[in-house]
Amino acid sequence: MEPREKRLRIAVQSKGRLAEASLQLIEQTGLRFRRGKDDLLLRVEDAPIDVLRVRDDDIANFVAKGVCDLGIVGRNALEEARLTDRIDAPDVIAELGFGRCALKIAVPENVEYGGLRDLEGARIASSHPGILRRYLDEKGVRAEIVEMSGSVEVAPRLHIATAICDLVSTGATLDANGLRAVETVLDSEAVLVQGGWPLNDRLLEVRARFLTRVDGVLASRGSKYIMMNAPESALDEIAEILPGAEAPTVVPLAGRPGAVAVHAVCKESVFWETLERLKRAGASSILLVPIEKMMI
Ligand code: ATP
Ligand code: ZN
Repeated sequence: MEPREKRLRIAVQSKGRLAEASLQLIEQTGLRFRRGKDDLLLRVEDAPIDVLRVRDDDIANFVAKGVCDLGIVGRNALEEARLTDRIDAPDVIAELGFGRCALKIAVPENVEYGGLRDLEGARIASSHPGILRRYLDEKGVRAEIVEMSGSVEVAPRLHIATAICDLVSTGATLDANGLRAVETVLDSEAVLVQGGWPLNDRLLEVRARFLTRVDGVLASRGSKYIMMNAPESALDEIAEILPGAEAPTVVPLAGRPGAVAVHAVCKESVFWETLERLKRAGASSILLVPIEKMMI
């Protein structure tokens, strides 16, 4: 095996909610690797990069300790590792827009809840004791925390606790267990983290290139390319309507004096209403197309 420092290492979750989207993001940056289902290490074919597949709980630690150089992890797991393992948290360098969820406190549906004061003296089961402890301290609530690594939602039924603090996305698990969310402790999504360990020049360049491409993938995900024809006189109004667009490209239309083609990248959602407004402003033949790649 090559010495460790010759290849950049990216830690991702091996199985679970972030696993697929994490690998997809890496693939969209143009890196190619063969995906064996149970492979713990995926070797990128044409760049000195390895993708390490691990438990999500280990990712922040691995990056903090320099075992890996980059990692894709939930903000919740990163924050929990920072608080409970007392690591020097790796830097968050991008929010990735997937794995969205929130850490919430929930109580049984039939229990009255009038505010945080009702949690005073309660016993709360949680998979995130560090974050919960900080939240309760900030709010001046004294409560006991029972740490559970999974199936937190069954705690009230088993009389392990009177409330829970767990990750929620749709709320279906809470519903199914007769619980209702009463407080939001932390909003979370997957983030890209980077450790502060030194790299040689070659790997610095490999990392910089990867990060530029990640930026490009993220930018293109939220963006669309819009094209239309319009009378030159309507340009100001059209520029006002275009959501999140920088200076549009304006090209004269051959054989049609006073008419132009307008092209722009829109960085925000473009709704039917937007297209209708453009049409009312004088635009015609409006096309909205997805952007596959973008270099900024
Ligand atoms: P591992 O085996 O890697 O330890 P896990 O069971 O701890 O997996 P998952 O349930 O796959 O982890 O969740 C991974 C991450 O996905 C969470 O830390 C969180 O950031 C995010 N996530 C998004 N939605 C939810 C949800 N509804 N419940 C739990 N986690 C969610
Ligand atoms: Zn986990």
